[in-house]
Parts: sequence; C-alpha cells; structure tokens
Amino acid sequence: MPGVRVLPGAQTRKCAGFFFGKRVRAMSSNAASTNRDDECFMRIALAEARKAASRGEIPIGAVVVDPGGSIIGRGFNARETTSDPTGHAEMIALREAGRERGDWRLDECDLYVTLEPCPMCAGAVVNARIARVVYGISDPKAGAVGTLYDIPRDPRLNHRAEVVAGVLADESRELLQTFFRRLRSG
Ligand SMILES: [Zn+2]
Repeated sequence: MPGVRVLPGAQTRKCAGFFFGKRVRAMSSNAASTNRDDECFMRIALAEARKAASRGEIPIGAVVVDPGGSIIGRGFNARETTSDPTGHAEMIALREAGRERGDWRLDECDLYVTLEPCPMCAGAVVNARIARVVYGISDPKAGAVGTLYDIPRDPRLNHRAEVVAGVLADESRELLQTFFRRLRSG
C-alpha cells in the first residue's frame, strides 16, 4: 500500500475520506506504531466524542472498524443521558458492531477510542475478540489497557488484542480539557 505505513504483523484498515483535508502532522514519539489510517479512524472517534460534549457528557468517542475498513459501530459516552452505568462509548460501539455483523464475535475488527478503556470496556474487548485497540490518551485513573491494568494483553485470558496508544492524543486531551474547563466556569 503506497503511502501507508504498515507495521510488521499489524493489520491495517483503509480509511475512506482521508484526513478530512488535514495533513498528518509530524510523527511524535509513540507515533512509530501509528499509521495514517489509524489517525483517520481516530478522527471519526473524535467526532463522536464531540457529540457527547454537545449533550453535556464527558467527551469520549469510539468506532469499530471491520476487516474491510468499514465502520460497523459508533458510540459516544452517554452515561448521564441514559442513566446507564455501562453507557461508555466503547460499549455502545461494540454493541452496534455486534448487531451490524449479526455476531458477538468481532474478531479481526479494530476498536478506536479517544481515551484508554476502563476495566469494563477492556473486558468487553476481550469478550468480543477484538483484534486491535487503538486509543488516544492514557487514563491514569481507570486505564485498563496498559496503565492500571493491561487486560487485552493479559496472557491468562483466552484472547489477546494488539494495542496502539497515543494516536491523536493531543486532540483527545484538548477536547476533555475544554469540557472540564467549561464545566468549572459554567
Ligand atoms: Zn469504559
């Protein structure tokens, strides 16, 4: 695939509608393991996160991408508006992807999420047999994909997912910071 960075052993997804007119910025430190398609899909997850913010929810967004590069699940955090303790962006996107596929097994699919998943969502990743988890910023308070726990790469579990962290982390952080700044000033 010309122009696309392919990692050894990594599956890649072709993202339609490249970058929404934005150029990919210079690669940062952990961007060695990212590729342009990861950034493209992360931008769509960020758009989901903005929908959460517009409803007064903490801006976190997620998408599930199938092996052909189609988005089969989308979600944004809706915990407050739905009074649902499981209403995290990832859970909503995974549920939608399962319905779309007609199968709870989402093997060979990738999950993109703007913030590192919590233990519940990381557990759902393992249960859904997701191939790759790509996330934006780490979560020091609840991160279960490398920070407090590393559920998708725990060898004791019956499924493991590849993990790519730090994709468009600055955008994700800015979205969260703006949200909390407004909350404090509002
Ligand atoms: Zn979660």
